[in-house]
Amino acid sequence: MRLEKGIRNFEFQNPTKIVFGKDQIKRIGDLIPQDAKVLILYGGGSVIDGVKFVAAGAVFDGNPIDMFGSGVGKGLPVTKALPFGTVLTLPATASEMNNNSVVTFVEKQAKISFASPHTYPQFSILEPEATYTLPKRQLANGVIDSFIHVMEAYLTYPIDARVQDRWAEGLLQTLIEIGPDVVDEDNHDYATRANFMWTATNALNRFISPGVPQDWSTHALGHEMTLAFGIDHARTLAIVLPAMMKVRKQQKWDKLLQYAERVWDIRSDSDLTSDEEKIDLAIKKTEDFFVSLGAPIRFSDVELGESDIPGLVEALVRHEKENISERGDFTSEDARAVYTAAL
Ligand code: ZN
Repeated sequence: MRLEKGIRNFEFQNPTKIVFGKDQIKRIGDLIPQDAKVLILYGGGSVIDGVKFVAAGAVFDGNPIDMFGSGVGKGLPVTKALPFGTVLTLPATASEMNNNSVVTFVEKQAKISFASPHTYPQFSILEPEATYTLPKRQLANGVIDSFIHVMEAYLTYPIDARVQDRWAEGLLQTLIEIGPDVVDEDNHDYATRANFMWTATNALNRFISPGVPQDWSTHALGHEMTLAFGIDHARTLAIVLPAMMKVRKQQKWDKLLQYAERVWDIRSDSDLTSDEEKIDLAIKKTEDFFVSLGAPIRFSDVELGESDIPGLVEALVRHEKENISERGDFTSEDARAVYTAAL
């Protein structure tokens, strides 16, 4: 396990053209080259992810299920895809500016993902006014999902990656600032919604994560809850993340302390005497933030209990989600402990 400092080697390329701002959707005709055939979709992350699957699956040599691994398909590489563009309606997944696709296979009881250099959108139109018709719950889901995308790339261990850290902290602070106004569905303040839309995109267009350790355990545990009980993706994350912070406190200690000090401004000159008190307060503030947006933070908030945990842990093992985390040491027993801490 490499814990030494220094940004890891990386290659980075993001080919998606972003067209952002007021009254931009009408420009869609200008973005498609003459005589070109381009799939166009209008929607949120799940719709975009579905089109990525279609775009790659339509020209895949073999059974498209084999684009996926995770105990479901063979995990074969995707070498081509049809071109597609998106018009974003629900900021949350950043799928409009990344190559990742998460798809649920109901009959296989699996919510799994694939990614390929060929599944970036050719272009995405981000018009903040498109969010004005969203209900509070969807707006809250977008804020929370974005928050946790940043946390999965940030809350690991420090390697002295200053740009990635400060960029992540800036996104988190922005979401904390604008969250209460964003979830006010009648507040159609353009500046607020513009900040929301661009923050959500930057949370997972990979700009904050090149060369840094990441931990997608919260998503892995949340996906099983969505699959088994139909709970909104972001709401599962709001339940899992605080418990993850508590159970993995020792492994994530240094970054939790940095998170407390820099994101929540819990400084050493505060009344809190120990580092652990600062960390615990940061976890509490994170929970309070999710609650203020109307999200659940416990199993009991969504009418689940201890008897639901074994099935979730079994599904994680079935989907090969063992030995995950930034250290590759997160076992099914750790998953059980996190679910239990979330009761
Ligand atoms: Zn997510």
